Amino acid sequence: MYRTHTCGELRLTNVNNEVTLAGWVQTVRKFGSITFIDLRDRYGITQLLFGEELNKQLDENPLGREFVLQVKGKVSERSNKNANIPTGDIEILVQEFSILNKSAVPPFTIQDDTDGGDDLRMKYRYLDLRRNAVKRNLELRYSVNRAARNYLHEKNFMDIETPFLIKSTPEGARDFVVPSRMNPGQFYALPQSPQTFKQLLMVSGYDRYYQVVKCFRDEDLRADRQPEFTQIDCEMCFVEQEDILDMFEGMIKHIFKTVKGVEITEKVERTTWEEAMWTYGNDKPDIRFGMKIANLKFPQHTFPAKAKAAGDVLEGANFGVFDNAETVVAIAVPGIAEYTRKQIDELTEWVKRPQIGMQGLVNIKCNTDGTFKSSVDKFYSEDKLKSIAEATGAKAGDLILILAGAEERTRKAMSELRLEMGKRLGLRKEDEFKLLWVLDFPLFEYAEEENRWVARHHPFTAPKPSDIQTMINNNPRIENAAEYLKHPYANIKANAYDMVLNGNEIGGGSIRIFQRELQEKMFEALGMDKDEQQHKFGFLLGAFEYGAPPHGGIAFGFDRLCSILGGSESIRDFIAFPKNNSGRDVMLDAPSSIDDKQLKELQIKLG
Ligand code: ASP
Repeated sequence: MYRTHTCGELRLTNVNNEVTLAGWVQTVRKFGSITFIDLRDRYGITQLLFGEELNKQLDENPLGREFVLQVKGKVSERSNKNANIPTGDIEILVQEFSILNKSAVPPFTIQDDTDGGDDLRMKYRYLDLRRNAVKRNLELRYSVNRAARNYLHEKNFMDIETPFLIKSTPEGARDFVVPSRMNPGQFYALPQSPQTFKQLLMVSGYDRYYQVVKCFRDEDLRADRQPEFTQIDCEMCFVEQEDILDMFEGMIKHIFKTVKGVEITEKVERTTWEEAMWTYGNDKPDIRFGMKIANLKFPQHTFPAKAKAAGDVLEGANFGVFDNAETVVAIAVPGIAEYTRKQIDELTEWVKRPQIGMQGLVNIKCNTDGTFKSSVDKFYSEDKLKSIAEATGAKAGDLILILAGAEERTRKAMSELRLEMGKRLGLRKEDEFKLLWVLDFPLFEYAEEENRWVARHHPFTAPKPSDIQTMINNNPRIENAAEYLKHPYANIKANAYDMVLNGNEIGGGSIRIFQRELQEKMFEALGMDKDEQQHKFGFLLGAFEYGAPPHGGIAFGFDRLCSILGGSESIRDFIAFPKNNSGRDVMLDAPSSIDDKQLKELQIKLG
């Protein structure tokens, strides 16, 4: 037997037990004729004491860090207890030891605060995984996985595997492709998600499906994305949007309760896409803090439901920057009216950075004595400043920040500025969790370069029932690119929903189209002629002819969910073997070239 106990297990109650432990050498501390060794395994650390006799043997067989060691000995109470570890009351008086394997000197220290940089740790990920910090993340990941599975199992969901070697499933990214040796010149695509399969399973009558599944998307890797990532992928039939929201709100709450011990009793808040864009400039708003956007001026057609008289407070001042801007938006940042010139200059530089792309930043200080001081005093009287302050909901002591420019960019910039100010003021607390459903997304997005519609979610998403006729009765063609917003398709809303947690989209899904005619209309709207529809999605259109039930589903980004629950910004920390930012596995050194023989078999010639 290699071991009777783990290195995290022994306590005072075990004193005098004869035990055998096996593990890795964490530290060796020699004191004259005795030696202390910390032995580590997945469960913890246990102190070993080598007395005089064994010390001689140790001198002959010196131990180094990360050696694999087996010891037999007796549990004994420690005189010098260590309250920081659960086994700190005891140590093992070693009677026999055997070196099971040696270790080279590891390239970085295997401890919480390691001296290893990111690249080095990734290259030797198998050593990095020995560190507590990483282990805790993987443990958390496993408990999220278990909690999700338990919940879904209780609710009658069935885990059904779907294939990886498939034909393209569009989720808006490029496919990874795999050449087929048996079918020369032909390729499989790796699934961007199991979308079409889970829908087919609904047609087959498996009314509650789930899978914790890998998805593959060949995207330019923006920060913290992985080319292969994991989803908790779910689908149900005979459901409406409300059923799905209810079911998966339940799942997330269950995960919070089991993994974090956090009980969320209230219903998850909801907002519409339009409301989210209007108040936060963002379709995945962080609602842990307020600082809502005040829309002082905006194009009337972008938010038809909001298009009431706007801009009054700004008018008549002859301030060109505001008068000529499409959009003017403001936030009232609480309690920082005292900001110095230098601090405001720094913020101005911040919004001028290319990532944010603004020309400048206007501010109004709402002094505690009730007066106002602004960078645009020249144009706006005290009364006007007061009206602007009222429009933003600012209080005495607040600093109002105003951005002006083209609609999309300005709104996005304000969203970023709001998040940045939230961070600087400590309002985005790591241990506070705020969930939000975002509903009623537009069904289509306009692709300027191609002058056509693209699906905002994916082509299988159903329009709101009240918009189906608009979709069917209108020609999707956009005659006048400049006025695409006037096309009836621009206002069609999708039966789609996203779940947002602390400003991150953690899940998204939709009620699906389940009739062949409507699905064909959708493909047509996306610019696919009948031949292309048949070639790419003939199997799905065919299936819809054989009694497809109404259905819908959702997928959660598992890696991201884990990283948020674990209080980290990086999903890589929660993946055992992640890729780096250029999609490389630096440990395997993949991707890599393949040899000529393989290329020949695949009948591939490299250009
Ligand atoms: N397949 C979708 C996605 O990966 C999720 C869904 O619609 O269920 O985003």
